[in-house]
Parts: sequence; structure tokens; C-alpha cells
Amino acid sequence: MTPHILWNEFPVGDHRAMCPMCGTKPKKRDMGITILSPESGVAHCFRCGFVATNRHERELTEAERKAFKRRMDALRKAHDAEQRERQAQAAAEAAQLWLKSQPCLEHPYLSKKGVKAHGVRVHGGLLLVPLRDANGVLHSLQTIDRNGDKRFLSGGKVKGCYFSIGRPSGRIVIAEGFATAATVHEDSGHAVAVAYNSGNLLPVAKALRSKYPCIDLYIAADDDWQTPGNPGMTAATEAARAVGGLLMKPDFNGLQRGPKDSDFNDLKRLIQEKEASQ
Ligand SMILES: [Zn+2]
Repeated sequence: MTPHILWNEFPVGDHRAMCPMCGTKPKKRDMGITILSPESGVAHCFRCGFVATNRHERELTEAERKAFKRRMDALRKAHDAEQRERQAQAAAEAAQLWLKSQPCLEHPYLSKKGVKAHGVRVHGGLLLVPLRDANGVLHSLQTIDRNGDKRFLSGGKVKGCYFSIGRPSGRIVIAEGFATAATVHEDSGHAVAVAYNSGNLLPVAKALRSKYPCIDLYIAADDDWQTPGNPGMTAATEAARAVGGLLMKPDFNGLQRGPKDSDFNDLKRLIQEKEASQ
């Protein structure tokens, strides 16, 4: 179902609002809205690309078309400048936290997942997993608490940023979460990159493809088998196709799979449980 804009709530003029398609919080004003008259409006999300128009039953005049374009461009510029400012603040915060943090020797989340630290650090009981771009610049951090609750620094850049483990030797495996990537690295020895979520698999795959034009890229999918549309498999398939990569899907055949068992870390745990019970 396509969400709709409540056009009547906006007077003639230019506005910024939460996108009804991708927005999660009212203060995330990713959408520009230009109202030329009560019968003529355009909305454009600068984040997801969602576009809507209000009652354009007649052809727009050339002047109207130009006005829409000019005013929407100005809204986009303001949006992008705000975003860069927030990202710069988050990057500064990330650098400070990283300096204050300690090397991680043990942490309840790592114990629960059965993986090593691989260079992540700890501060105030939180694991800190860095988000770096392909040039190694630190942009943000993901924090993971003892219960596995994950958060990014507010406003920090995520798109195209990743955390790498191991040195690439002919192959890099991209996975969504830290624990999944760590598991793949520990079991296979391959270099891995943490993309943090399904929506970032494609941007990270593209960033790595640019950095390493000849390397084999593998996408280790989360098989979200109980979620409608299986976002993990869908995004991993798309990312693998886009960069000429290969898809790795966890095979739960013959295991007592729970509804939340979706990734290679879950797979390893189930295999170990099965072996222990035999
Ligand atoms: Zn949007």
C-alpha cells in the first residue's frame, strides 16, 4: 500500500516532514514538500526517493515545473547540509568514545555468541564496533549491550560503512551482524566485513568492489525465513548480483530450527547443540 501525504496540513510554501514511506521518527525530516497552491503540490523523500504529487490533473505549466524544481532543490540542499552536520558530529563523538575505550577481553555478548573480539573495544560495559569507510575513516560506532541490544550513534553515517576482520586474500565475505561475520571468519579464515543491516549489504558490497576490483565477494545471507518478504535473503541476493558476487545461505536442514534462527552464528550454535546431545 502506498502511503499518502496529508496535503491539507501544509500551507502554501516549502516544508520538511517525516517521510511516510521510510520515516521512523517525526524529527527525521527527510522529505521535502512544496505547495504552490491548494491544488498543486509535490513531495519528495531525499532518503528513499519516494515521490508524491497532489492533484496534478492538468499539465503543469513550464513556470510551475521550474518553480517546483528550484524549490525542491533548495529543500534538498538544506536536508543534505543538515545530514552532513549530524554525521560530522557523530564522527567526532565516535572518535572520542573510541579513544576512551579499552580493548575487549571478554563480554557477555561475545560469550553468548561464542565468538572472539577481533579488535572491537569496550566502554562502560558496551561493546563498540566501528563503522569505517573504504578509506578506513571512522564515521560512527555500533554499541552492543550485554543483552545484545544494538544501537548506532545518533545521526552517524552507516551507508557504505563496515567493520572488517582479517586480511583479504582473494576473497571477502560480507555479513549483516558482527557475531555472524566473526563466526564466518573464525570457521573459514576468510576476511569478512560487517555491513550491520540488510539495507547496507549493497552499499558495502559496492564499496568493497570499488576498493578490490578483482576479489571474490561472498554475501553471507541472514535467512529471515519467518519474516514476510525475507528481507535478509532478498537484500543479500540483490547485493551479490550487483557486484558479481556469490550468495551463501545457512543450511538448517536436519536441525531444530527456531523461528529466530536465521544466520551463520545461529547455524553454528544449533550444530554444536546437536553434536552435544548425541
Ligand atoms: Zn523516504
